[in-house]
Amino acid sequence: MADDRLVLLGTKGGPAIRKGGPNPTASLLVMEGQPIVVDAALGVTRALVEAGMPLRELATIFLTHLHSDHVLELGGLIHTAWTSGLARQVAIYGPVGTRALWDGFRASLAFDIGIRVEDEGRPDLAQLVTVTEFGEGPVATLGGITVSALRVHHPPVTECYALRFDCDGWSVTFSSDTAYFEPLGPFAAGTDILVHEAMLLDGVDRIAKLVPNGARVKAHILASHTEAYDAARIAAAAQAGHLVLHHLLPADDPTLGEADFLREVRRAYDGPVTIPQDGHEIKRKDAP
Ligand SMILES: [Zn+2]
Ligand SMILES: [Zn+2]
Repeated sequence: MADDRLVLLGTKGGPAIRKGGPNPTASLLVMEGQPIVVDAALGVTRALVEAGMPLRELATIFLTHLHSDHVLELGGLIHTAWTSGLARQVAIYGPVGTRALWDGFRASLAFDIGIRVEDEGRPDLAQLVTVTEFGEGPVATLGGITVSALRVHHPPVTECYALRFDCDGWSVTFSSDTAYFEPLGPFAAGTDILVHEAMLLDGVDRIAKLVPNGARVKAHILASHTEAYDAARIAAAAQAGHLVLHHLLPADDPTLGEADFLREVRRAYDGPVTIPQDGHEIKRKDAP
């Protein structure tokens, strides 16, 4: 459809934010006219507004896994949509634990939610939201869109899923957080856009130096994330039409940027590549 698009709302990996830097991971996919939020990290609410999506139109949210750099603002997003006039059901899809995350948020805001229902006559927030917990396989059919999930390798998290969205003539696949994981190639086969996480090894050491628990952080990053070159190998194996890197590590290092990611990608994939900044939009290209 004419306004179908992908917007990379937040592009950095990891939960820390710094002055002038990007936000953690969240994306907006508009497919067949339906707005779908994929991951809901800090900053997702403001970024959706800036991307031109009225919060009243919030309808569908997918979570790839429950690391905070993917879910920290889930509750804040839905609550802000609610106070912005949300009048429709919101469906959350996420791995096991998603229901507890949402229930816990509502419990923490019980005072505010209760008083707004009583004092301002708003609909009961609990009744406006459904939660579906999914595992590997077919996840949902949303009108003309089918959604499927592949469990990826993101130790020690076991409930972590790549997501593939297909409609007539367009397909977008998100890797989620994962170490290099060969089954992503066939899972994403023929996809028009592969959104894959990516890191540069040169940047990992510098990230580790920024925090007191740097050695542990570095070990976690190396065991559970994908080098840009390997993301490109997945794109090549899938014959993806367009590779978009996100969850960038590093994302705000002035000495390592777009050219460095691109150089790694070009060792394995020669199709269109985007190394986005927050808010970058890619419109659906209809097949000729
Ligand atoms: Zn992450
Ligand atoms: Zn993660």
